[in-house]
Amino acid sequence: MLVIKTIEEISHHIQGLKGSGKVIGFVPTMGALHQGHLSLIQAANRQADITVASIFVNPTQFNNPDDLKNYPRTFTRDLELLEKAGCDIVFAPSENEMYPKKDERTFDFGELDKVMEGEHRPGHFNGVGLIVSKLFDAVQPHKAFFGEKDFQQVAVVKKLVQLLNQNVEIIPCPTIRESDGLAMSSRNKLLSPQHRKAAPIIYETLAQAKLLTNTMAVNELKTFVKDKINQHKLLKVEYFELVNGTTLEAVSDFNNGKVIVGCIAVWAGNVRLIDNIIF
Ligand code: AMP
Repeated sequence: MLVIKTIEEISHHIQGLKGSGKVIGFVPTMGALHQGHLSLIQAANRQADITVASIFVNPTQFNNPDDLKNYPRTFTRDLELLEKAGCDIVFAPSENEMYPKKDERTFDFGELDKVMEGEHRPGHFNGVGLIVSKLFDAVQPHKAFFGEKDFQQVAVVKKLVQLLNQNVEIIPCPTIRESDGLAMSSRNKLLSPQHRKAAPIIYETLAQAKLLTNTMAVNELKTFVKDKINQHKLLKVEYFELVNGTTLEAVSDFNNGKVIVGCIAVWAGNVRLIDNIIF
């Protein structure tokens, strides 16, 4: 497995591989890798000839300086896990390499970044747009793999590719969970033992909600989910929304024939967890 730190070197290397007809699959990450990330590597291994992963904790997508400071960093272990998973190339640039100067671009994602994560984390998706566009420019992948764990991010990245007219196929991959249902996340490492014990209630409640769409109206179901999770004194729901899976617009009933997704953000102490369920 090759570890590359500069844009010049990765671009040059990929050009050579593309010249010999290789299909490039790309998995962007912020490191602190777990089985969720590795499932994306496996998907890339299956659907491309060369799997490239990036590890870069992107400062522009953090709206909270403490979150950036506390974000887990496990670089040596990440490289071991990537190598074992069959990754071919790791791109691990420095901050200065990705942002030699302030990038002032702003993206018009329409309504996609006005709701849910966009509403509660101002500037987050613009930062995601900045780094994904820079990584795509450097790696020039044919396909890029993103987790549905970050459901809204997938919608925003699809829009970004349209806006920039980039020829990258965005491939969403299913959420990988712990055996107790908690969605795997790098931030789970930051949970206290008590919060970790409480956290599976989030998905348990989402799964229950999925079974209640025949008996409850949208607003009733939203209240049910929020109340049930908030009943646990260690958890606090920031939002729970039922949205159209493509436009992310809030839905008012369950019978509009579209894919509906329940998206949630919950504070477990000072750790913010997100999850979703496709109805
Ligand atoms: P991150 O390192 O958190 O930026 O995540 C990198 C990629 O891994 C993103 O596409 C995430 O959506 C994806 N990812 C994170 N957690 C999971 C999970 N539990 N299951 C599947 N994909 C995930």
